[in-house]
Amino acid sequence: MVAAGTDRGQEVLAHLAAITGLPMAANCASAERAAAGEWRLVRHRWAGSLLEDALLRAPVAVLTVAVDAVAAAPAAESAATRVCPYEPVLSEADLAVLATASAGPGGGDSLATARVVVGGGRGVGGPEGFGALEELAGLLGGVVGVSRVVTSEGWRPHQQQVGQTGTRISPELYVACGISGAIQHMAGCQSARHIVAINTDPEAPIISHADYAVIGDLNQVIPALIAAIRARMPA
Ligand SMILES: Cc1cc2nc3c(=O)[nH]c(=O)nc-3n(C[C@H](O)[C@H](O)[C@H](O)COP(=O)(O)OP(=O)(O)OC[C@H]3O[C@@H](n4cnc5c(N)ncnc54)[C@H](O)[C@@H]3O)c2cc1C
Repeated sequence: MVAAGTDRGQEVLAHLAAITGLPMAANCASAERAAAGEWRLVRHRWAGSLLEDALLRAPVAVLTVAVDAVAAAPAAESAATRVCPYEPVLSEADLAVLATASAGPGGGDSLATARVVVGGGRGVGGPEGFGALEELAGLLGGVVGVSRVVTSEGWRPHQQQVGQTGTRISPELYVACGISGAIQHMAGCQSARHIVAINTDPEAPIISHADYAVIGDLNQVIPALIAAIRARMPA
């Protein structure tokens, strides 16, 4: 039983494993049957910075696939997926829901699956500084992510935190603004295909991880970027 290693995939299979009493292995990069009831796995640990060889003993393997481990490919026609419709029988009690948090206005892409993430750190200076990042993210078709300092300060909600204790992202483009690039932050964004850093400090660790870096004040660079993008947009 295999699901994508997204927040949703992990949650659904963890529930399935708990209900059935089967073990579950999260974030697998590969899996092969070693013997009857035995599976040889390679799993991403520590936000993908470590690969673990593991042996899973279970009559049915319940696995999620690390999000960046397998390239997306259209299903081969010969291996057409068989769809088995399932109609659960639900009672009124099954439908009772307690809402404990709101996703906030806008909806759209989640941080984990967004193709573009505009990240903001302490350098943004305060909650009011995120308006420009939201605008840039909107123009690029992306979402805003933040460092832990930002959530600890209460500037933005924890759901937007990128990193070891936040969300792991793997966008096409990560624009890190006023973020130093601490190891715990990089653990969450090292799968980004391209990293662009905007930072006043040329020695900030994020610069050595970035494909492109703009050494400058984000309060000048981001408005200039927004203006340049708007100038290229059709009227
Ligand atoms: C167990 C543990 C787990 C952690 N988990 C996470 C996690 O999941 N995610 C996470 O992010 N952190 C995590 N941290 C915290 C991490 O170690 C760093 O403290 C944090 O990432 C730093 O956030 P920052 O880059 O926003 O701030 P800072 O390190 O203070 O960096 C701010 C940066 O902004 C730049 N800057 C300042 N002003 C401007 C300006 N006007 N324009 C442009 N640049 C500017 C500065 O040069 C600096 O590089 C964790 C720490 C621990 C111990």
